[in-house]
Amino acid sequence: MVRLRWNFARSLQARLALGYSLIIAALLVLMNTYPVLMTENLMFRSRQTALQNEAALVINTLTTAEELTPETVEQAVAGLDGLDAQRILVTDEMGLALYDTGEEKRVGQYVLAGEIVSAIQGNDAFSSFYQDGVFVSSAASPVMNRSTVVGAVFLYEENSTQGLLLRELQHNLRLISVVVCLAVLALFGVFSIGLTRRVNALLGGIRTVREGEYTHRITMAGHDELGQLADEFNQLTRRLQSTEEERRRFVSDASHELKTPLASIKLMTDSILQDENIDRDTAREFVADIGEAADRLIHISQELLALNRLDEGRQVNQEAVVMKAAVDKVLRMLSPLAEEAGVTLETKLEDGLLAACGQEDMNQILRNLMENAIKYNVPGGQVMVSVFRRGDSVCLEVSDTGVGIPEEDMPRIFERFYRVDKARSRAAGGTGLGLSIVRDTVHLHGGEISVQAREEAGVCFSVTLPAWKEGQP
Ligand code: ADP
Repeated sequence: MVRLRWNFARSLQARLALGYSLIIAALLVLMNTYPVLMTENLMFRSRQTALQNEAALVINTLTTAEELTPETVEQAVAGLDGLDAQRILVTDEMGLALYDTGEEKRVGQYVLAGEIVSAIQGNDAFSSFYQDGVFVSSAASPVMNRSTVVGAVFLYEENSTQGLLLRELQHNLRLISVVVCLAVLALFGVFSIGLTRRVNALLGGIRTVREGEYTHRITMAGHDELGQLADEFNQLTRRLQSTEEERRRFVSDASHELKTPLASIKLMTDSILQDENIDRDTAREFVADIGEAADRLIHISQELLALNRLDEGRQVNQEAVVMKAAVDKVLRMLSPLAEEAGVTLETKLEDGLLAACGQEDMNQILRNLMENAIKYNVPGGQVMVSVFRRGDSVCLEVSDTGVGIPEEDMPRIFERFYRVDKARSRAAGGTGLGLSIVRDTVHLHGGEISVQAREEAGVCFSVTLPAWKEGQP
């Protein structure tokens, strides 16, 4: 298992944690201030209405008196009951206190508090503040007589009941904030542990595969983005594994193919060198065999080079290939081989068919398919080549009455070095690379190739290539 160096400060989680913490902190600050301020405001307003109503009540009683004197005021106010205000102070129009229920008893003194001055000037005044759980409010209103200010009423109140309510609200909000913080922390912890475990599984998997362990797969529960990432990763690894296996098989097959002719060259040169009295004819025979083995090596390396060029994705040079001429040319070239094998060649070619392909590539495709059809045939057998048009494609079919291909080998015959009958292929000079070259060449030109068993005997290879369009670059 690969060890992971994990740095929280640089991790995605740290950034997420910071982001969420900021958002939650902002929400909590808002939650702890806005409702409190709103409630405070409401309470100020309720105190204002209550005190101003009480002031109106006092003023109403005072208007029954002819003149405001300490006696008349005391007489009028004494009859009032159930007022919330803890202090009632009445002054004349100059601010001289005529009546005061406060502890200081300011009767006979000028009381020029801000609210009273404002009331003497004919305005209602109110002030309130909240401190240590108590709402302290005061209100003053003018006493009018025939549109003239004749005095002022000042009320003072300390209300702790509503202060208590506000305190409780603050306390509850703080409690809720702590619970929310703890819940968010716990949730983030659980989420964070799960996320870290899954991200680590992914990172560990990637590093294991990077070190060449292509069989490693990640098991991850869930279908979220990380689950999908793990699925994609596993598919990629499967692909890497099969590519790696293919590469190893190819290297081993190629070395094996090269080893056989090299071993026979070595054996024959040793025999010539060790036998000092070797006669001329035997020596010539050995040298001829060495030449044959060298030819085989050249053939294999040519095919390997051709495959390599196709793998590298060489540039596609397309031209209008006249199919009839191309088939005829290969037919003439392979006639001696067919004659030797006792196989007859037949063609059915539509005139004027042009395929979009390279001249040399088309030659390669035809030569490989037709040579196979002769090589894997039986004496007295036949090879039929037909070319026809279907829609926008040119179709080429090479069928034979030969030994055929077993059903289970069909899907593999286009693989490199794959041969159904190794001995027969080698004896016929085959390398097992021909069909891979054909398939890659056909694909390079945007075509398709397939193979089917024929009902009677043998097989039929079908190639479709794009037809040449007039004016095509
Ligand atoms: P080879 O050089 O061995 O011919 P190919 O790649 O051309 O290699 O073909 C792969 C294998 O497919 C051959 O070894 C042979 O077993 C089989 N094969 C190809 N063409 C035919 C055919 N027309 N009839 C029967 N078997 C065939």
